[in-house]
Amino acid sequence: MIPKLISGDITRVDADAVVNAANSTLLGGGGVDGAIHRAAGPLLLAECRTLGGCVPGDVKITKGYDLPAKYVIHTVGPVWRGGAHGERRTLESCYRKAAGLAMEHGLKSIAFPLISSGVYGYPIEQAIRVALSTLKEFESADIEIYVVVFDDRFFATAREIYAEIFGVRA
Ligand code: ADP
Repeated sequence: MIPKLISGDITRVDADAVVNAANSTLLGGGGVDGAIHRAAGPLLLAECRTLGGCVPGDVKITKGYDLPAKYVIHTVGPVWRGGAHGERRTLESCYRKAAGLAMEHGLKSIAFPLISSGVYGYPIEQAIRVALSTLKEFESADIEIYVVVFDDRFFATAREIYAEIFGVRA
C-alpha cells in the first residue's frame, strides 16, 4: 500500500511492528532507540542481548513488550560521511529489509522513523527522499506502512517530498 505520513512519537503507534533506528550493538542508545527501549521496558534489552548485534543495512526482529506494537524490527542506518561511502545504499537496505521481514512474518502494518536523520547525520531532505522512494517499492504489497516524522519542523518538507514521489498529497 502507499505509505502514510504521520507526525508524532513512534512509541505510541499501534502497528504490528515499529522500526527502531538502533546502533550496531542493539543495546540501546539515544533518540528513537532510547524512546523505544523506555516504552517497551527492560525485557526488550534482555532479548536484544541475545541477538549478537546488527550490521548497518541489516535488520533483526524482537517482541514489542510494553509497546502497543507487537514487534520491534531493529535496523542500523548508515552514519553520514559525506554521501560517497554507500550511505544511500545502506539506508535503502534498512527500509527494504525491514518491510520485507515484516511481510515474511505475515505482519499487516509497520511504522518507520526517519532512520539515520538524527545523531547519524543523514541530511533530512535526503533521508526523507530515500525513505519514501524505497517504500514506494511496496506500493502493491499487502502491508500498511507508516512513516513517522517526530520533529514537527520537518513535516511540511516531508509532505512536499511525498507529493513529488507519490503524485498525491500525504
Ligand atoms: P539515528 O542514529 O539513526 O540518526 P536518531 O534516533 O538519532 O537515529 O534519529 C532518527 C530520527 O528519529 C530523527 O529524525 C529523530 O527526530 C527521530 N525520533 C526521535 N525520537 C523519536 C520518536 N519517539 N518517534 C519517532 N521518531 C523519533
